[in-house]
Amino acid sequence: MKPSPFAYAKAKSVEHAVELLARPDGEARLLAGGQSLIATLNMRLSAPKLLIDLNGIGGLAGIVVKGAQVEIGALTRHAEAERSADIAKHAPLIALALPHIGHAAIRNRGTLGGSVAFADPAAELPACLLALGGEVEIAGPKGKRTVKADDFFKGLFETALGAHDVLTAIRLPAASKDTRVGFAEFARRHGDYAMVGLAGCARADGKGLANLRLAYFGVGATPLRAKKAEAALAGGKLDEAVGALADDLDPSDDVQSTGATKKHLAGVLLRRVAKQLMEARP
Ligand SMILES: Cc1cc2nc3c(=O)[nH]c(=O)nc-3n(C[C@H](O)[C@H](O)[C@H](O)COP(=O)(O)OP(=O)(O)OC[C@H]3O[C@@H](n4cnc5c(N)ncnc54)[C@H](O)[C@@H]3O)c2cc1C
Repeated sequence: MKPSPFAYAKAKSVEHAVELLARPDGEARLLAGGQSLIATLNMRLSAPKLLIDLNGIGGLAGIVVKGAQVEIGALTRHAEAERSADIAKHAPLIALALPHIGHAAIRNRGTLGGSVAFADPAAELPACLLALGGEVEIAGPKGKRTVKADDFFKGLFETALGAHDVLTAIRLPAASKDTRVGFAEFARRHGDYAMVGLAGCARADGKGLANLRLAYFGVGATPLRAKKAEAALAGGKLDEAVGALADDLDPSDDVQSTGATKKHLAGVLLRRVAKQLMEARP
């Protein structure tokens, strides 16, 4: 199918993009990598009157390590982050997740900002952002604001972004030598969206784990923390943690599998991620 007709504008700056979004003449949509948006236009799941292209805005892409934080510009392509030595060293959970996103062609165009803004419940990066306790920088008509990952994902494809907002960057705590991360997902074929996935992050504390955060994806409308499982696993009780998932998660049946299968897979993935979390990083 072909998309409904739309007008096109190339934003010159973030402020210009916000201004264009605020035009009262109908629905406008931002275009980043286009890897999700163009498909929804072609299938006529969405029919904006205006596409605002972010790709010409300088300074919106790039990875900077600032003290204890890693800042990733919204327009940074998945492929650029995948090849980044800074991401490998300072954001190892993101490095583990990136190769699971689609295929090379998609990662060449798709952006980290687009992925987080789109907030597909089966996507890898929103769950990583939540597991890391990161934050999102947003520019809107009233200026800039920062929203914590815990408060960002509101519902199915719904986030703290308003209709006139641009996501400008994501910020993550930079990994220290005590940081432990783990990532696992189950997909029918490599590159497909996950049926179930899990991103985990913790701080090594003696023989145990502190500040443990487990974020599942593909099991609900948003990425979800498994808080009872976190408490059990932080106490070294893996079997108890797997059992606690019965309380933490309540996945519905979907086109990929039943909720019961997803729950079973969530336990399998927890065992894999727990093993990774117990291992020191090289
Ligand atoms: C075949 C295929 C397989 C894929 N598999 C996976 C996968 O396994 N895992 C996965 O996570 N993703 C997957 N994707 C999606 C891919 O990761 C996309 O790149 C991503 O979801 C959206 O990023 P984008 O830059 O392409 O955004 P776009 O498609 O340009 O935009 C997506 C949405 O986000 C909004 N948006 C974009 N940027 C901003 C911004 N800076 N501020 C506010 N709103 C913004 C747009 O308006 C639009 O509504 C797949 C895509 C395809 C085509």
